[in-house]
Amino acid sequence: SAASDAVHRLSVHVRDFPAPGILFRDLTPVFEDVEAFRAVTDELASPFEGAFDAVLGIESRGFLLAAAIGVRRGVPVLVARKRGKLPPPVLSEEYSLEYGSAVLEMAPRRLDESTRVLVVDDVLATGGSAAATARLVARAGYRLAGVSVIVELGGLGGRDALGDIRMHSTLVD
Ligand code: IMP
Repeated sequence: SAASDAVHRLSVHVRDFPAPGILFRDLTPVFEDVEAFRAVTDELASPFEGAFDAVLGIESRGFLLAAAIGVRRGVPVLVARKRGKLPPPVLSEEYSLEYGSAVLEMAPRRLDESTRVLVVDDVLATGGSAAATARLVARAGYRLAGVSVIVELGGLGGRDALGDIRMHSTLVD
């Protein structure tokens, strides 16, 4: 697809970042190319066409994707943030990292309870952050449309971590 071609052309693999032994896929160059960014955001949303009423971005690069999709499709934008960034009231979900754990937070529901939320992010690795966000969406009182990411890192169990949740990735790496 145009989106996966653009990601192949523009994304960069960075060795030993953010820690030794980790191969980091940097997708930020995609945001710097107007056509590529449009193609990628369209591909994130189109498999869920007619099946979502709001889009939720996971901090930080997910915010950029969710904002673009929300404005282009005319749907509300929601956010899941790292611990301590959102004012109360907030819901919190902890998830485990390779070493230790992390917390994502989200505001309780302000939109209609029938709202179907599409969760977006740039990369799915272990799936821990997307699964925690899915739990937040449910606890907030929304319905979950699914999870859509640009790159799914294969072999890290991300898809399994999401269980029955509908998931789309533009490409598997
Ligand atoms: P997970 O929770 O293990 O699935 O990790 C996914 C989260 O970490 C997402 O918010 C990604 O933005 C970030 N992430 C993990 N690995 C990479 C990578 O190689 N490149 C860019 N972001 C990554």
